[in-house]
Amino acid sequence: MTPTEDEPLILDEAAHGIPLSKIDVNARKVLNRLHDAGYRACLVGGGVRDLMLGLTPKDFDVATDATPEEVKRLFRNARLIGRRFRLAHVRFGRDIIEVATFRAPHEEAIEDAEALVEENGRILRDNVYGTLEQDVWRRDFTINSLYYDIADNTVIDFTGGVADLREGVLRMIGNSEQRYHEDPVRMLRAVRFAAKLGFDIDPDAKHIISDLAHLLGDVAPARLFEEFLKLMHGGAAFRTFELLREYGLLAQLFPETDALLREEPGGTFERFIGNALKNTDKRIAEGKPVNPAFLVAVLLWQPVLRQQQALIENEEMPPFVAMQKAGQIVLSREVRHVAIHKRFSQQSREIWDLQLRLHGTRGKRPFRVLARDRFRAGYDFLCLRAHSGEDELLALCDWWTKFQEAHPVPVRAAPERGAPRPRRRQPPRRSRRRKPAPSA
Ligand code: ATP
Ligand code: MG
Repeated sequence: MTPTEDEPLILDEAAHGIPLSKIDVNARKVLNRLHDAGYRACLVGGGVRDLMLGLTPKDFDVATDATPEEVKRLFRNARLIGRRFRLAHVRFGRDIIEVATFRAPHEEAIEDAEALVEENGRILRDNVYGTLEQDVWRRDFTINSLYYDIADNTVIDFTGGVADLREGVLRMIGNSEQRYHEDPVRMLRAVRFAAKLGFDIDPDAKHIISDLAHLLGDVAPARLFEEFLKLMHGGAAFRTFELLREYGLLAQLFPETDALLREEPGGTFERFIGNALKNTDKRIAEGKPVNPAFLVAVLLWQPVLRQQQALIENEEMPPFVAMQKAGQIVLSREVRHVAIHKRFSQQSREIWDLQLRLHGTRGKRPFRVLARDRFRAGYDFLCLRAHSGEDELLALCDWWTKFQEAHPVPVRAAPERGAPRPRRRQPPRRSRRRKPAPSA
């Protein structure tokens, strides 16, 4: 049966196949408390989508007709966040349940405290509340618009999301072009879900992404950094990267990387990035942590090398200084597109710096290199280069592997003369913050 705008498809537990026990216990607490207080409360988005596909959801999102302020009143452990899209975060230790209030459409270009649509169709503020029936159409893809209603444990489908889930199609709700104009980040989300789920982007809408990729140029670089992390940490970074290139989206995020990849299709840089992304996916599949600084260092490596070369040739800088300067220059250009946090970019620079230092294998030098903070990342980076086509580095990678085996305990380099003494640890300051509530 196909749902219509007025008559949704309603699936009971036998049809949707999500046992209540599969829903995160904290999400259930939030749903039940909202329901008991007389509000409509549904699990929505990735939680429903992934459970219906038999996958483990990354997080659980709740949608309700309670306003953010009402949610805050109901949960002591709730915090209101977001200006563009106000919602409540209900915190349980490290776990956060995102609770969004149903949104209503605001088609006309209106500007008031709650909604703001620019002339070009971009939604800048989206805080007009509504009903579930209105909220459905504001979601991005049909497979993300399924609501699990805690009142009767059914799944409600207005948009054909259930059929698309079964067919493996990623379909935008409504007019794709208009929806990408409203929020260009949806193009990155399309690629992310297509890669992660192995779905096909609706063939009718594919070319639209390539045509509109340039709209990402106007999105806040800080938001693009958040999205970049999601793209890389979804467990399908390799495939995601292929799609980003295919649709011309990479040129908006990492223009210099994209340009150099185009110069040499199938070259060393492409292999290097590909191997790094495959490693990332493998680590995520094994539940190991991944460091965004490493990927940033990988993606910008060739642009940095090229910049370094230019500084050596044109300004006669020594290689070490040129490497540091090049890192700085390339990063300062990059953060205009994707605002890489300082705490990561600093580490990327240390990884680049180590690529030169790792050549120092004589005398006391290797001990000093081994004692550096970012040694392990720098060494992994070197070996990845060696195994991605820079054969001349294979012996060096091997040398460092053996050196570490021979010196398994981290060796602290003796402080250099005149180096500042380590600061005494300050006694811990008394926290003025109250203890967080133990539970909702
Ligand atoms: P995951 O959490 O696995 O990354 P998700 O689909 O849950 O995927 P979230 O970013 O957690 O994605 O958002 C939750 C839901 O909110 C989405 O499923 C979608 O319905 C809606 N949503 C999120 N971002 C947008 C957007 N930019 N435009 C329209 N709807 C959105
Ligand atoms: Mg989610």
